Amino acid sequence: MLKIFYTDTFPIPLPEKHGFPKDKYPLLRNKISTRLAGKVDMQIPMPASDEAILRAHSAAYLNRFVHGGLTSDEIRRVGLPWSKQIVKRTRYSVGATIAACRAAVAEGFAVNLGGGTHHAFHDRGQGFCWLNDSAIAARAMQAESLAETILIVDCDVHQGNGTAAILKNDPSIFTFSIHGKNNFPYHKETSDMDIALEDGTDDDAYLKALEKGLDKAIQRFSAGLVIYLAGADPYKKDRFGRLALTKAGLAQRDRLVLTRIIKAGLPVTVTMAGGYAPEIQDTVDIHFGTIETVLELSG
Ligand SMILES: [Zn+2]
Repeated sequence: MLKIFYTDTFPIPLPEKHGFPKDKYPLLRNKISTRLAGKVDMQIPMPASDEAILRAHSAAYLNRFVHGGLTSDEIRRVGLPWSKQIVKRTRYSVGATIAACRAAVAEGFAVNLGGGTHHAFHDRGQGFCWLNDSAIAARAMQAESLAETILIVDCDVHQGNGTAAILKNDPSIFTFSIHGKNNFPYHKETSDMDIALEDGTDDDAYLKALEKGLDKAIQRFSAGLVIYLAGADPYKKDRFGRLALTKAGLAQRDRLVLTRIIKAGLPVTVTMAGGYAPEIQDTVDIHFGTIETVLELSG
């Protein structure tokens, strides 16, 4: 049974009409519970410890984040209000990626129904991201001797700038990001491999570029584990994304990434990352499609 970790039961306090689609998380979990009952094992993970977080973040930043010492500028850059509840949710969400990585190493596949908070840097948060779950989880697997080398495949429409910066001088973790060239963040970092796509890139062009990059990354880097950020925001109707993928194209993307990873004999952790379709159900459908593809290919 596919292990799926969720954390939406810990609230994210937001003002009315805030642009962050927090409801996608319970909607997605409910859809999975209803439609895929008996095929998935849904669990709440343990929260990430300070020790784990400090492998990717500075002690000063973690201390400010946990104890409410962030400046208004630091909070504004993240774009979510700070609260004790958000600290708790974030710890659990990072814990979900760590737990999913452990499960993936043991069983081949596992999922976090959140995570992909790739804009968080060593000493600051940004763009809805407080802590970088991919960097923390990759280093947790190394510390636990579960994987020596990790490949991060970031297919969110936004560049994984925080991940690239944190892991810049770390040859044991390979960062691959395929994203919209003109999308946030406007100042891009340098990943181990970046593919920046023009506005309006469609399914065919996207899939060709992804296939090429993915093959090169898998060939060039000897990974023991893959973390796949299956962002729903390359979708053509996304409020923030500038690419033009259809739902069918996104499903093909998931299939392409997962079949390449399976062919290489690697375990994979899948995280959801972003998704800001005007109709939240579209975002939920895209993420749900990712889970269905994982289930099909892991069965
Ligand atoms: Zn995104």
